[in-house]
Amino acid sequence: MKDHQHIAESLRARMARLSERVERLEEDLRQPLDPDFAEQATGMEASEANEALEGASRAEMAQIRAALGRIEDGTYGICVSCGEAIAPARLEALPFAQQCIDCARGR
Ligand SMILES: [Zn+2]
Repeated sequence: MKDHQHIAESLRARMARLSERVERLEEDLRQPLDPDFAEQATGMEASEANEALEGASRAEMAQIRAALGRIEDGTYGICVSCGEAIAPARLEALPFAQQCIDCARGR
């Protein structure tokens, strides 16, 4: 079995950064809107952008959590579709990849 400890560590570090970001975004979203209409319009755009960013952060956190789970149960780095090992270069570029490059391309 391969040791994916260094990947687990970098995933945990990334997870910590993401959860900090989500917390900050949630704080921003709780701020009341400025009473001035012009300010309010830009404020609403900003909060929409924040919500999108928060959603993306949460989605990434879910993928990281899943990858950490796979590292723990020893299935990390194995393609969920064909059962072959995922190329290390692919895992490096996309640490929470669940499929090998061939399956991801739909082969
Ligand atoms: Zn595959």
